[in-house]
Amino acid sequence: MFEKYFALRTKFMRASEIRELLKVIEKRRIISLAGGFPDPHTFPIEDFYDITDAVLKDYGTHALQYSVTRGVSYFRHKLIDFAYKMRGIKVKDLEYILVLSGSQQGLDIIARTLINPGDYVVVELPTYLAALNAFNLSAPNYIGIPMDDYGMRVDILEDRLRGLYSEGKRVKLVYTVPIAHNPAGVTMSYDRRKYLIELASQYDFLVVEDDPYSYLVFENVDVTPLKALDKEDRVIYLSTFSKILAPGLRLGWLIAHPELTDIFERCKQSLDLHTPTFSQYIAAEAIKRGIVDKVIAKAKAIYKRKRDAMLDALVDFFPKNAWWSKPIGGMFVFARLPWNLDTKALLPEAIEKGVAYVPGQSFFVDGSGKNTLRLNFSYPSVKEIRSGIEILGKFFREKAKELGLA
Ligand SMILES: *Cc1c(COP(=O)(O)O)cnc(C)c1O
Repeated sequence: MFEKYFALRTKFMRASEIRELLKVIEKRRIISLAGGFPDPHTFPIEDFYDITDAVLKDYGTHALQYSVTRGVSYFRHKLIDFAYKMRGIKVKDLEYILVLSGSQQGLDIIARTLINPGDYVVVELPTYLAALNAFNLSAPNYIGIPMDDYGMRVDILEDRLRGLYSEGKRVKLVYTVPIAHNPAGVTMSYDRRKYLIELASQYDFLVVEDDPYSYLVFENVDVTPLKALDKEDRVIYLSTFSKILAPGLRLGWLIAHPELTDIFERCKQSLDLHTPTFSQYIAAEAIKRGIVDKVIAKAKAIYKRKRDAMLDALVDFFPKNAWWSKPIGGMFVFARLPWNLDTKALLPEAIEKGVAYVPGQSFFVDGSGKNTLRLNFSYPSVKEIRSGIEILGKFFREKAKELGLA
């Protein structure tokens, strides 16, 4: 009845499939490998009592007051140190930092300030769904680049760039999750990271580096961020406290050239004036007291155990010629079934059997990935992971037999 009042742009606001799914699951006792939640055991609840106390005592009048759009200076100073200590990124000054209400807001701001309808935007196949949802409002032309075990196929990107440029078209930005990808569960190799930065310079585009998971890598691999390789300030580095402290704080941040942060700041002003001052002081204090380091250490230990449980269970219960990623960190494994089964069509039945997952197709801008699925290992218990994978493995095998595929 109210639809006639809706603005045209609401056409691009698709309900997130995952969120719709979570609603169904909440009501039932099933094993969910579908979500994207951190393990709540990583939340430093006891420490939050002390930090909250200290913030109110030491900064009370500031912490509860309006603050500047760009972010509390005290916090931005802490972020500069944090970016260097954790990621080897040298930030020249405070003007390079913009505090965000979750890195999701960064994606929204980037879409609003940089993307015109029809602009060419490169994403990975598969890519982060919430990024697509944010970008969709600006109606870009997506170019999907396949991934393998070493991340985005940057060589294929180069071919596509060459083709487009020969037709007089230009790519404006490349969106990537280089380390412990959501949903793909893979990590871009160091060589490809360097190659991508070279292409950015050669073909004159910007790179949006979404980096929530490099802090949660539990194998000994190089995780140098694109931003640390970026000599021309072409990279917009996005990160968040959602996976390393608490997502409920809604606290993210970005690093980019001040010309970019200026326009982002102007945009953010109309979105929410500023990110909650209180969250910023809480996080600053958590960094200062080593609480973030503590959460990271704990999360790494827990997620490594859970990742191992999931990979072991996949070996034991999934069809032999299925493919799945072997993540070095983060929270997700991505799997591809050996048969042409439609994981989306099968989901309701899987839920009946007691397990939920996210069908992979909606992560692919080219409509492929029908037989893929995303499996979360951060939230369910080790026991749930094992029995969830066992149930799914059996279920897919049965379905393949039923349809004469296996
Ligand atoms: C979890 C996640 C984020 C974090 O979003 P917030 O808005 O900061 O909670 C960003 N990007 C990716 C790829 C993620 O998986």
